[in-house]
Amino acid sequence: MRIDLHTHSSVSDGTETPTQLVTDARTAGLDVVAITDHDSVAGWTEAAAAGDALGVWVVPGLELSCAVGPASVHVLGYLVEPSHPGFEDELVRIRAGRTGRLPAMLEALNRHGIPITEEHVWAAAGDADSLGRPHVADALIALGAVANRKEAFDLWLAEGRPAHISRYATDALDGIAMINAAGGVAVLAHPWGRESRAEMTPAKLAEFAAHGLAGIEARHHDHSAADEAELTGLATELGVLVTGGSDWHGTGKVDHDLGSKLTDAEAFDALTAGRSPV
Ligand code: AMP
Ligand code: ZN
Ligand code: FE
Ligand code: FE
Repeated sequence: MRIDLHTHSSVSDGTETPTQLVTDARTAGLDVVAITDHDSVAGWTEAAAAGDALGVWVVPGLELSCAVGPASVHVLGYLVEPSHPGFEDELVRIRAGRTGRLPAMLEALNRHGIPITEEHVWAAAGDADSLGRPHVADALIALGAVANRKEAFDLWLAEGRPAHISRYATDALDGIAMINAAGGVAVLAHPWGRESRAEMTPAKLAEFAAHGLAGIEARHHDHSAADEAELTGLATELGVLVTGGSDWHGTGKVDHDLGSKLTDAEAFDALTAGRSPV
């Protein structure tokens, strides 16, 4: 079984539609793919239909923007019931924070001589439900200000760069609780990625596990082989699952091909146990 549990579509900052995501998953030889757009479930219906048509098991998921103090932490939520009271309201609040910071970002870019407007960003975002920095990056590319998304982040958008503006995110323990309350499974995404590494100490991982975290995404491109081994050991000690995912964004992120990081069938069985995947 080839199982990739972390991908993005054009519903957030991926470049391909949910249908194309599932089509590409099939081409990549995946048996199971999770659609995990940032703070949105708007791609589920389309992805599920494509999965039915193509014989790919599509797991409905999302990547929830969370916070541990000032640090940004991502929590993957699988198989949640989004109509659970309060769940979609919280997603709306996060997405409002995503759009609400846009004027300040553009002002900063304007101050640095880049004539970018909201129209440029909305044109780049298409019909995305969840607006992200990658859409600002795409607008900067269209304006000829940068060559690619990576350069846009390195020069302007990454934490510490001139156009970085922080936004609302759910407290991480509340996010884990919210996913569990909605009947889902919470997995910590790329804990030792750049933005969360300093905060995600073994003690913090233990605290999360004690508060309902079901798994740790040890297998991710942000992690070195040593990180992956260490996180796998920590997950085993804590009695939580080890997962893997490519964090595919279509052409929006290089070296994140579908199926380039996988989850074991045993971990996937445990993750879906007792639930009836859509
Ligand atoms: P935001 O959701 O607005 O906080 O933007 C963060 C998202 O930007 C991440 O989830 C990645 O999908 C993407 N991202 C971060 N760094 C880069 C990069 N160097 N190149 C391309 N995409 C990136
Ligand atoms: Zn993303
Ligand atoms: Fe992430
Ligand atoms: Fe992601």
